This record gives sequence, C-alpha cells and structure tokens, in this order.
Amino acid sequence: MNPPEPKRMLATVTEQFARTARRTGLATPGPGVLEAMARIPRERFVPAASADRAYDDAALSLACGQTISQPFIVALMTSLLQTRPEHRVLEIGTGSGYQAAVLGELVHEVRTVELVPELAAAATAQLRALGYDNVHVQTGDGARGWPEHAPYDGILVACGSESVPPSLLAQLAPHGHLVMPLGPRDAQRLVDITQDDAGVVHTRDVLGVRFVPFVRTIEARHERFVTPRGIGLRAFAATEAQAFAELALALASLVADPAQVQRQRRVEFACSAAKGPQLLARWLDEVVWAMARQDLVFASFEVRLRGDSLRATGLGEQRSAPRGATVEPRRTTVLDPTVARDADGWVAQCTVES
Ligand code: SAH
Repeated sequence: MNPPEPKRMLATVTEQFARTARRTGLATPGPGVLEAMARIPRERFVPAASADRAYDDAALSLACGQTISQPFIVALMTSLLQTRPEHRVLEIGTGSGYQAAVLGELVHEVRTVELVPELAAAATAQLRALGYDNVHVQTGDGARGWPEHAPYDGILVACGSESVPPSLLAQLAPHGHLVMPLGPRDAQRLVDITQDDAGVVHTRDVLGVRFVPFVRTIEARHERFVTPRGIGLRAFAATEAQAFAELALALASLVADPAQVQRQRRVEFACSAAKGPQLLARWLDEVVWAMARQDLVFASFEVRLRGDSLRATGLGEQRSAPRGATVEPRRTTVLDPTVARDADGWVAQCTVES
C-alpha cells in the first residue's frame, strides 16, 4: 500500500532537502517544520479544482493568477528563518495563507500582508476556521512592511523582487533572517539576509527559484519646478493612466488647491490621439478647456487608457470666488508633454507657459 498523501509529501520534502543540501546548507528541515506541515490540511488552502493535488510537492494556482508555493520551498524558507517559539514574524504575500499557517504552528505571532483583497479575505477566513488566532492578515502593499508591530525576528517574502524593500530591512530585528526571492524574473535567487550589530547586511545565496512578482505600487504624487518657458509639472504613478490623472491634477492645482474643493461635480472626458505624448497633450488640453470654459476647479481625475484613446472623469466644483489662483486657466498653454516608464512606474511631465 502507498503511504497516505501527507506522508508522501513530507517524504518528498525530506528527499529534496538531502538533494539540495550542498547548495542550501541545510541537509534536513529545521526543528518542528515537518511536524508543523503534518498538522496542516493543505487541501483547505488550495482551490477545489486542485484538491486532488494538494499533497504533490508542486506549486499550485490560486485565484487572481497567484500561486501557493511548492511544499519543499515552504519548508526551506521556514527553516532558513530559524524560528523559535517566542518569535514574531512577518510574511509578505499571504496568498492562500498556507505558509502563514506553517509559521503560525511554529512561532508566537505571525503578521502577513497581501496586496490582493480577495486573497487576503479568503486566507483570513481559512486561518480563522482552522483556529490560527496568532496569525494576523492585512491587505496592503508589502513594500511598507507592517511598521506598527516591528521589529520582527524573521521576515519571509513570498514574491520575487529585484531589490530588497528598504522598509523590510528596517523592520528586521538584529540577527533576524529576511528570506526572499531576489533578482530578475528569469534568474531569481532565494537569499537569506541578516544584519549584524553594526548594521552591516549579509546576503547568502541559497537556491534558484521562481516566484510571482512583488508588485510595486507607488503612490501617485507630483512636483513643480521652474523652467525657462514656464512652470514644469511632473507626475509619478504606478500606471500610465494614473500618471495622466496625476499630471492633470498637478495642472489643476496651479489654479486652486484641490483639497479645498467641496461640492463635487462630475465631468466626463474623452479624447484620442496617435501616441502617448500626443494623447497626453490632448488630455491636458481637454482639462485646461474644461477649467476655462466652466470655471471648474478639480479635486481628482480618474483616467482609463485604451490604446490610443482616453476616457476620464473629473470631480470638481464651479469656482465661485478666486482661491489664491496663480495661473488664469484661460491663458494656460501646455508645452512639451512627455510620458515614460521608469523603474517604479510611470512619469508624465509637461511645462505650463503662463
Ligand atoms: N505564501 C503564499 C504564496 C504567495 S504567492 C502561500 O503560502 O500560498 C505571492 C503572493 O504575493 C501573491 O498572493 C501576491 O498577490 C502577493 N503579492 C505580490 N506583490 C505584493 C505586494 N506588493 N504586497 C503584498 N503582497 C504581494
């Protein structure tokens, strides 16, 4: 007779440790790790469609294009953290919640952050149902960590990033381990990072891995600067559409403070043009036109880009009295719009001739 499925999975994990020992430096899983995994019904964390594969040593698909890590990788990352029962650990990328449950078996408290609200909700429900009261799930961008409860004795990141988010390093306790997939998507390495008393960071390469990407969400913001031709405006955002919206907001803020807008009126915009900067120019013209024709002050814009066309909504109000206007919208001319990708997202820029 074949061994029951969970036993077979743990046997495979053990074999994998032996096979990779020279690279990982670990011939066997850390104390208690296999026992913890043996207590967790993994089928409760995988979608019903893959339930028959719950105990395969394989990564499985979750909703929203995400994956639940391969059991060997879960065991390896957990072992690298060198957990102790009194530890408090942080996980980034809750996904199904399975890794968090493994950690929950081993340490005093687990905090885990997931970007996708649906996944965070499903994981929370599952962890509650199984009684993991020491595991706390938060929806949000893991690049921030969970500063309110830092420092952590260990941090496990379950999504691949090209660089170590500085907030995570800042939230790691002295001598704690930060275990994460690092590097470009097709050449990711699992690394074990520690920081000594002097604050010197040590990185140990463990194994080649393949994780889903660590999604960078940068908060939209804009800045003004002076150019020979007028006022320069530059907007940064995670997506091209958000960069368009943010640049329009920067333009609107030349006329009045968007934070002062109280009564909100919707204005619909639509335009099209051949290329990115041309479409941006058309969009900014539309905004200037709306401000001038209707004497509107905008508090926000929502832009949807589809190919060469743009649909947007602006929320604003009629300007009853001048609110410290610096530029009269009627005379606003937008010059040199540019839009480009950078490492973290999108940058849209223009000059306003006044
Ligand atoms: N530990 C999980 C596997 C996670 S897969 C498990 O045991 O099932 C990686 C997860 O990281 C995905 O759910 C993905 O949505 C999440 N993720 C990606 N970028 C993120 C970010 N910036 N902040 C938080 N979670 C993120």
